[in-house]
Amino acid sequence: MLRRIAGLPALHHSRANPRWTLTHKLVLMVVFATTATLLLSGVVRLYLTHQTLSGHLKGEARRSADVLASALILPVWETDRHAAANIIQALMADGDALVGVRVTEGTGDDGETWLAFWRQDDEPPQQVDALPAADAGIFSAYRRIVKTALWQEAVPLGRIEVYLSSRQMTSGLIASVRNTALQILIINLLIVALLTLAFRRTVHNALSRLSNNMDQARTGDLTVRADATSNDELGRLADTFNGMISELARKQAERTENNRRLAAFAAHLEDRLAERSRELQAARQEAQTAAEAKNAFLANMSHEIRTPMNGIIGMVDLLSDSGLTREQRQYLDTITSSSGTLLTVLDDLLDLSSVESGRLELEHAPFDLRNSLEEVVLLGRIQCAGKSLNLELKYHPDAPTVYLGDPARIRQVFTNLLGNAVKFTEHGSITVEATAEHVDADAARMRVRITDTGIGIDKAQLAIIFDKFTQADTTVTRRYGGTGLGLTISRQLVECMGGLLEAHSQPGAGSTFSVVVTLPRAAPEQLLECGGVAASAPRALRFDGKLLLVEDNRVNQTVARIMLQRMGFQVDIVDNGRLAVERTTQMDYDGILMDASMPVMDGFEASREIRRLHSDRRHVPIIAMTALARRGDRQRCLDAGMDDYLAKPITRKALQSVLCKYLPFTDAVNTSLAPASASIEQDARTDDQVLDPTVLEELVQDDHQAMAEIVAMTRGELQQRLGQLHDALGTNGCEPTRHAAHSLSGIAASVGGLNAAEHARQVEKAAQLGDLDACRSLLTTITDAIEQLRAALLTAYGDSDYLDQPQEQSGQEQ
Ligand code: ADP
Repeated sequence: MLRRIAGLPALHHSRANPRWTLTHKLVLMVVFATTATLLLSGVVRLYLTHQTLSGHLKGEARRSADVLASALILPVWETDRHAAANIIQALMADGDALVGVRVTEGTGDDGETWLAFWRQDDEPPQQVDALPAADAGIFSAYRRIVKTALWQEAVPLGRIEVYLSSRQMTSGLIASVRNTALQILIINLLIVALLTLAFRRTVHNALSRLSNNMDQARTGDLTVRADATSNDELGRLADTFNGMISELARKQAERTENNRRLAAFAAHLEDRLAERSRELQAARQEAQTAAEAKNAFLANMSHEIRTPMNGIIGMVDLLSDSGLTREQRQYLDTITSSSGTLLTVLDDLLDLSSVESGRLELEHAPFDLRNSLEEVVLLGRIQCAGKSLNLELKYHPDAPTVYLGDPARIRQVFTNLLGNAVKFTEHGSITVEATAEHVDADAARMRVRITDTGIGIDKAQLAIIFDKFTQADTTVTRRYGGTGLGLTISRQLVECMGGLLEAHSQPGAGSTFSVVVTLPRAAPEQLLECGGVAASAPRALRFDGKLLLVEDNRVNQTVARIMLQRMGFQVDIVDNGRLAVERTTQMDYDGILMDASMPVMDGFEASREIRRLHSDRRHVPIIAMTALARRGDRQRCLDAGMDDYLAKPITRKALQSVLCKYLPFTDAVNTSLAPASASIEQDARTDDQVLDPTVLEELVQDDHQAMAEIVAMTRGELQQRLGQLHDALGTNGCEPTRHAAHSLSGIAASVGGLNAAEHARQVEKAAQLGDLDACRSLLTTITDAIEQLRAALLTAYGDSDYLDQPQEQSGQEQ
């Protein structure tokens, strides 16, 4: 029953039903309290009863002793044992408590037993000789038996001992304890029942209701309210609960309102975001359009500027080969350097645009870094002219030289750095030092340092010189010129190669620019023969074959035609892509040089058409020749089916180095002219050691045009190489000296300049042995010999009329 009543619904559902419910605990406490109270009062009552009964037993013993002492006087006097026994038995039969009687003859404790009776348990009393030893539950009393008579003295006859057992009293007490326990139990049961009922009616029901209310609230119903009518703790609990629920409801209402506001705000934000991203999209589109427009503008500008530049530079190239007065040559030099500068600015802008638009494509061709640096240094020497500068290249002997990379871009970077060093240094020295920081089988980390003793750059300026259009000191730069783009492009190019370009400088003490780049190594055999030709000195190559030149600009047609014819090609010319396609169906060509932008059909479409029509025939190399100089254009050309790409203005060197990749050639100097020079050496007929005319005449037979071209070219080359020789000796460079002398001897020999060839060979030998002093002592002799040869050539063949009307004499223009 307790269990059933105590089964209050748990107030908290997440908790397991408690072992001790509130009712259990309350009932237990009450039961414990009442039991303790009742027990205590029972014990006290028992004690008191025991005391009373004990006193009563003792009185009874005394009274029995008194009675027997009186009744036994006579029998004892008369020693009538029988009568005495009767009296004792009669008294013992009266009360159960009297269990033993002893009559002794003396009056002391040690008197002899005269008569004794003992009752064992519920048996009748028996006469015994001696009484058993008294135990704890026996009360005793003693009286003397005394015979008294009138006027006589009292005579003591003996002693009577009475023994009463407390057995009866004990069993009475036990019965009383039993009754008390029963009473306690009954009272407890009553209390439990009453308490439980009362608890159920008040606390339990109220708590159950509250628990239900809480459950309801827990499921989200915040309208629920507890009954708080009772004016006690439960009422207060209900009040608290109601207050809590009201607060919760208020908070929830607040939260709902906040959520509503938040949702509205989020919706607004989404709208704003959508609007903003639309704006951004539009801005991006605009920026993209602007970038495309910029690129298109740059492409067009490049085309528009490069096309006439092509004409100018090509014509200047041709003109420089003709006989000119010193003044005319000076003018020509100015034109050349100005157009070079113009092209540099144009290239800078195009480079910057392609790097910034991420369209820069780097080549991965085998190249010789030392050769590239030598070329850059040679160029630097030319720029040094007129300054007392010592320009030196130190290529560490342990550093590998052949790598895979973009030699043109690498040369561009170092040309720019060295150009700056020369530009900003008036006295002292400039050193280009190449060292390998780390070398393994596949790659090497190279550091190339360009150190000058020039004006230097202060700290503030040093921080910004790599920014676009930045020049350290506008007053200085105005004196020196420049666009402020060179370093920006150089750093970006180096970074595109995965390298680093750093600058250190002290104003007044000089600057050091370091390029650190890891380059994949290549085997020296990988350097194509023509790559070597292209990278080193511009040797003349001789080709044999028929080319189709597709070009709409007449000036460019003429320049390209003359260049190609000089290389040995037969040239057909058409001025648009449609005609080119037609021509290839009528004739087999060894190669096609294709301009990209042309009327009627452009170069891209024409190439695609040619590839489509002749897919079953031999692959004819098509080389794009275009003023579209952006890097991505190369890929466009390749995609259209072309094999290679040449940026205008086209130079003989570039043309030759591309053509030699696709068409068979011979070395004009070393191969075709070698027998001639050999014959010169063996020829003892002539005493004219300055110029043996038979050599050239034998070579060109009656082709006056070719003769004039060769003479002009040779004179120019001789002058250039002589200049290089002077520079090389001025800077103590053994290898450049040997190189220049070798070229001079080859060129001189090829036209029959025996004297000059011989002197040049001597210089070459001395340079080979590292004896620069000997070279220097030969310098005047060789300079005279070369000048004599140039003069002799001019005298013998130097009629520039040959070159004045080249168009009319060759080519098939359309
Ligand atoms: P610029 O075409 O003007 O030479 P660069 O980007 O190549 O443009 O160089 C930016 C500026 O950095 C130069 O104008 C010059 O002030 C400074 N500078 C570059 N190299 C050197 C150097 N070796 N010595 C002193 N100043 C230099």
